[in-house]
Order: sequence, then structure tokens, then C-alpha cells
Amino acid sequence: MPAPERSLLFRVFLIDLLIGLWTTLKYTFKPNVTVQYPKERAAVHPNFRGILRVDDDKCIACFLCQKACPDNCIYLEGEKGLSKGSKYAAFFYIDHARCMFCGLCEEVCPVDAIYHSIEFAGATYSRADLVHDLEVLHKGHAIVHYER
Ligand code: SF4
Ligand code: SF4
Repeated sequence: MPAPERSLLFRVFLIDLLIGLWTTLKYTFKPNVTVQYPKERAAVHPNFRGILRVDDDKCIACFLCQKACPDNCIYLEGEKGLSKGSKYAAFFYIDHARCMFCGLCEEVCPVDAIYHSIEFAGATYSRADLVHDLEVLHKGHAIVHYER
């Protein structure tokens, strides 16, 4: 598509160039809005859905999160607890490689045992490392802080 014709006035006085320079000048003295990731990390919103965590002290192994998950990324096994009628999660795995961070598991949990952290730096070199067991889900996975 051909560029629209500019009037003679615009062409003679380089008006487009001056408009561009004026825009650059306006932003030159404003504070930066970008951060130099990974050296700096911007604060995320408290409602951000990051890497999942599980508080196994709270979990009652009701399987609601597993049933609610549309991607089948939660696997758990429940055992009977010491007190009558109580249960706890003996095994709990979440495959973050499949997870789409929809938040449904967090929403259905009756005791707030599963929740999204605000951590987002979960990249690994292996898909297997994205399957987190109960220990990792409880403590939070090790964050690699890149220096370059
Ligand atoms: S956030 Fe969604 S996809 Fe991820 S584990 Fe929970 S329910 Fe499944
Ligand atoms: S919904 Fe909550 S209490 Fe039930 S199994 Fe999942 S994490 Fe545990």
C-alpha cells in the first residue's frame, strides 16, 4: 500500500521529524518504567497466580482439587490420620508443565491448603523438574537467580 501523500508544508519543514523528536524529548526526562530483569524483579500483584504451593498440615486429602483440575496435573493419595475420620495427603504431586494456572484448584479447596504463590521464575531445563512433590510444594521450589 503506498504511503499517504504529505502536504508541501510538511515536506519542506520536516514536520513529521519534528513531531517525532518532540515525542522523544517528552519521554527523555521521565523516570524509567522498565526494570532490568533478572537483576531487578518487579513486584507482582498479590492476586498473581504463580507457582502452586501446598500446605500439607492443612490438607485433608478430600481430592476436590484433583477433580477440579481441567488438565489432570494433580495427583494425590490420602491416608487415614490418627484422629477418627481424619485424613492427610501421603503423596501429592503437581505437574507444572501441564498447569495452565487457572486457579480452580485453589478455589475449590475447603481449607485453603493449595494456593498460588507470587513466584513466577520456574523455568527449568527438564520437564521432569516441573513435577513438584509434597516437599517442594510445601517449601517452595528453589529459585535460580540469574545474574547476566
Ligand atoms: S491451576 Fe488449574 S491447571 Fe493448574 S493445577 Fe490448579 S486446577 Fe490444575
Ligand atoms: S482440595 Fe485442598 S484439602 Fe482437598 S486434597 Fe486438595 S489441597 Fe488437600
